[in-house]
Amino acid sequence: MKSDFKVLISALALFFILAKAGLVSAEISASLVSFSSEKLLQGDTLIIKVKKETGLGQPSGEFLASKVDFFRSETGDWVGFAGVDAKKKTGKYILTINFPNGEKYQKKISVVARKFPVTVLRVTKELKDQGYSPKSIANDVVNQEAPVLSKIFRNYFPAAYFAKPFIYPLSKVEIGGDFGNIRKNQGVSLQHLGVDLEAEMETPVYAVNDGAVSFADNMPTYGKTLIIDHGLGIYSLYLHLSEFKFSKGDRVKQGDVIGLSGNSGYSISPHLHFSIKLNGAAVDPLIFVETSMVEILK
Ligand SMILES: [Zn+2]
Repeated sequence: MKSDFKVLISALALFFILAKAGLVSAEISASLVSFSSEKLLQGDTLIIKVKKETGLGQPSGEFLASKVDFFRSETGDWVGFAGVDAKKKTGKYILTINFPNGEKYQKKISVVARKFPVTVLRVTKELKDQGYSPKSIANDVVNQEAPVLSKIFRNYFPAAYFAKPFIYPLSKVEIGGDFGNIRKNQGVSLQHLGVDLEAEMETPVYAVNDGAVSFADNMPTYGKTLIIDHGLGIYSLYLHLSEFKFSKGDRVKQGDVIGLSGNSGYSISPHLHFSIKLNGAAVDPLIFVETSMVEILK
């Protein structure tokens, strides 16, 4: 009996030492923190929910060397988004959530490989006549478009412009080109970091959520491109448009027609290329939208 008591005392002492070190928490029980998944594929989106019942105020997190900002959803709970880049190395990673009082909650999340098919980077005669070649496309993407985008993505709005789940950018969603396909031609290899959706010329394109337009301009391969900053490091991108309905700096509401689809830039036929960037990670945009639909108001 006496030795049992000693074991109990040392177990309690160990618990408090660990609690002080932030490895376990006396107050934050696992039922107050939930994850859309504990095992993610490359390109997946993780949504983290912290129940309002923790009573600890706005958390902030870290995952895959990126910050995770939280916002208060309509239910009053805290919601954070984290993205697994399509090219992220597989393995186990620690997600850390920090609370204003110094408490900490950690979770091990696995990132597993997703199979990305290899397809041909097609250049039709019409595109060739316009000066496109596999080399010119790769060169434009790397040297012209990537620097413009990384500059935009560095200056995101840290709070959320939105409170509702995301929606699709078209009223009818039909995939013409999958996310993550590796397109190769003449020694060039480019990963398709968005999804191509079937759209006739001049189909209305909707803002997938509230936000601020951070870019609306022409680019060599992306064509007429519009980018919305939704806050929290979330950006939606709409490529190959024929017309813009908003300009840089404009505020948009979910469902606003932000432009009309088209065939501008490096595009084989009229369609909408839709991408989501999440704290720098290129994630599958349809999985992102669907995860938000399931998780935000749960
Ligand atoms: Zn595309």
